[in-house]
Amino acid sequence: MLIDGTISSMKYTNSPIEQITFNNKKFFIKRDDLLDKDFSGNKARKFYYFLKNDFKNITKVVSYGSVQSNAMYSLSVLCKLRKWDFDYYVDHVADYIKTNPIGNYKEALSNGMNIIEGKVPENIDTNTLFIPEGGALKEASLGIKILAQEIIKWAEQTNTKDLKVFLPSGTGTTALYLQKYLPFEVITCSCVGDEKYLEKQFSLLEKKKHPKIISLDKKYHFGKLYKEFYEIHKDLKEQTNIEFDLLYDSKGWLCVKKHLKTCKSSILYIHQGGLLGNISMIQRYKYKYDKII
Ligand SMILES: *Cc1c(COP(=O)(O)O)cnc(C)c1O
Repeated sequence: MLIDGTISSMKYTNSPIEQITFNNKKFFIKRDDLLDKDFSGNKARKFYYFLKNDFKNITKVVSYGSVQSNAMYSLSVLCKLRKWDFDYYVDHVADYIKTNPIGNYKEALSNGMNIIEGKVPENIDTNTLFIPEGGALKEASLGIKILAQEIIKWAEQTNTKDLKVFLPSGTGTTALYLQKYLPFEVITCSCVGDEKYLEKQFSLLEKKKHPKIISLDKKYHFGKLYKEFYEIHKDLKEQTNIEFDLLYDSKGWLCVKKHLKTCKSSILYIHQGGLLGNISMIQRYKYKYDKII
């Protein structure tokens, strides 16, 4: 436990659970978006291991992915806190993003991220920590176990016995480890690939106890704009006063609406953060559907 003693063991854990009503149905929301101003959501859980453990030799983190990724931003915060260099590889940065950086990209740059267009180098030296895209790695289990323990404690305190936990998936890492550590059913949906892709991602990390996957009839492509995603995002904000993420939560709530409407169990929805990423998404949505420039 370290970092000049400035990070207490409580920081970046223990988010509140709130009750909301959406479309006349009650839900509980685990507000991991409120963990911290800069280091929040499921990326704070997934990278907790790298915040809390000693890495004597490490001076640099290398990762890759998309230019507006939530994981990229959270890694930039981690590296700033740990005083590590951060090299982030992308295929290409479009000119309009270079000239007008916003959201995750802008903030990651201001945290000192080195953005590199091209392939991740094949040889990573022993002073460098390599983090795969989206933080899909076994070390993520530490922080997600703590998340599960918080949920178990809350369920005990509120005497909630019949509980289902829902969260939308990217790599599926968060849902998988939650199911590993929770005595309740974990339900998810796939946002970046199809259901087969998500099953495969689960299998890469663990062979058993996979979360249940629910889906919609229509195929959605990650990062594309859909009117129904924008609509449900606005409905949620209006009815609950909570802002949810547009990439994962909009699809997540459409799945909840379709499959869990008549579910008798209490439902706990995990808010996994990602709100900084909304800035660039909302700009695109406004331009496309509200004709606001
Ligand atoms: C990264 C992210 C996810 C997906 O998490 P996985 O562990 O990759 O499934 C979901 N929601 C938000 C807001 C995210 O930032």
